[in-house]
Parts: sequence; structure tokens; C-alpha cells
Amino acid sequence: MKNISVAIDGPAGAGKSTVAKAVAKKMDLLYIDTGAMYRAVTFLVLKEGIDIIDEQMIIDIAKNTTFNFSTDGSEIFINGENHSKEIRTPRVSEKVSLVSKIGDLRTVLVNAQRKLAENHDVIMDGRDIGTHVLPQADLKVFLTASVEERATRRFEELSKDNQAESVSFDAVKKNIIQRDSIDSNRDQAPLVKAEDAIEIDTTTLRTNEVVEEIIKLIRKIQR
Ligand code: C5P
Repeated sequence: MKNISVAIDGPAGAGKSTVAKAVAKKMDLLYIDTGAMYRAVTFLVLKEGIDIIDEQMIIDIAKNTTFNFSTDGSEIFINGENHSKEIRTPRVSEKVSLVSKIGDLRTVLVNAQRKLAENHDVIMDGRDIGTHVLPQADLKVFLTASVEERATRRFEELSKDNQAESVSFDAVKKNIIQRDSIDSNRDQAPLVKAEDAIEIDTTTLRTNEVVEEIIKLIRKIQR
């Protein structure tokens, strides 16, 4: 039987990973967090002190890095080491969209993402999944929410991880707006809703309501 693929795209902080993880668990799908891969490369770039304009070095880093996810997709292992927390620091968030603009880097990561998805029922979240990584996905969802709501969610996440002391709510909001702008305006595979994606505005919805809505949509395509 053909494998099922679900693409979840949308701007920063729209709740994509929380929702995708929950749907994966309930529907027995493999969850792939593509943002974690761009963050992982950015984390290595900062750790090695590489200049963002040194594109070839960044591409080489990505080529020589292995990415593995825990079974539920929530932890990322970079070259075998768990760096799930370090990739979500404000420092990485500040630079990740600039790294993600590099076209040849995207090609390396997109190939790795397609490979991870091979022979599995998957739910993959990111910015270009429905438009570029899995254009034949069986279901495409575009999650949105107001900027205020997205910044609030992101700030709460950072507070839970004890990282909020190093950053203000306004800085988190500014970072979200900046990332959306860079992600939407880059040349290769920009953040854009796929024509055949179903848009869900999550501003006033609870996580479980969004999860249930997506599960309903998956059941429809399974019929
Ligand atoms: O999903 P998350 O917010 O963790 O993604 C971090 C950044 O990675 C995004 O702001 C974007 O620059 C980049 N990204 C991307 N394409 C994807 C997933 C993430 O360019 N498919």
C-alpha cells in the first residue's frame, strides 16, 4: 500500500511542531521536524565561529552532518549527540533564517528530508514541505495565527526551557516578524501557502482542537 504523507507549513510559532507531534502519535505517523535541521546547521555554524557569508563552509557542514530523530521526533541527534535544547536558543533563532536562505544548503537538507520520509507514513513540518519537499503530499495544511499569539506561544516555550531570562517578549516578537520576512522573501522555496493546502487559523483554537481537525482531514484521505 502507498505510504501516506502529510505536510504542515506555516510561519514561525504557528504551533506546527506541537500539533504535528500530537497527530503523529495518535495516527502512528513518523514526525519529521525540518526546522530542527536548519537550526542544527545554524547551531554548528555558531559553534565553529563560521561567518554566515562563508556559504561553501556551511554547505560542507551540512553535507558532513548526520541528523537523527528520536522515535517521537522531539529530540534531534546531530552527529550522534543530543542537541535538542541548544538548537532552540534565541541565538540560533536570530541567525537561522539567514543560514536557511543559502540555496545549495537547502538542496542538501531537502534531499536528507526526502530520504528520511522514504517508505514511511510521515507528517513533516516546515516552510516549504507542501510546495517543494513533498509536493505530492496527500494532505497539505497551512497553519497560521496572529503575530501576537505566535510570539506569546514562543515566549512561553522559552520560559518553560528557562531561556526566557535572556530575552524579552518584544525581542521574541521581533525575531518572529524578521524570520517570517526573510523566509517569505528568499529566492529558493520561500514560505508560501501551497495552492492545494488547507489553511487553519489557530489564533483562538486550543492545540487539541487543531489536532482533531487534522486527524479528521487525514481520515478523509484514508477512505
Ligand atoms: O520551524 P522552526 O521555526 O524551528 O524553523 C526555524 C527556521 O528554519 C525558519 O525560520 C526557517 O528560516 C528555516 N526553515 C526553512 N525551511 C523549513 C523549515 C525551517 O527554511 N522547511
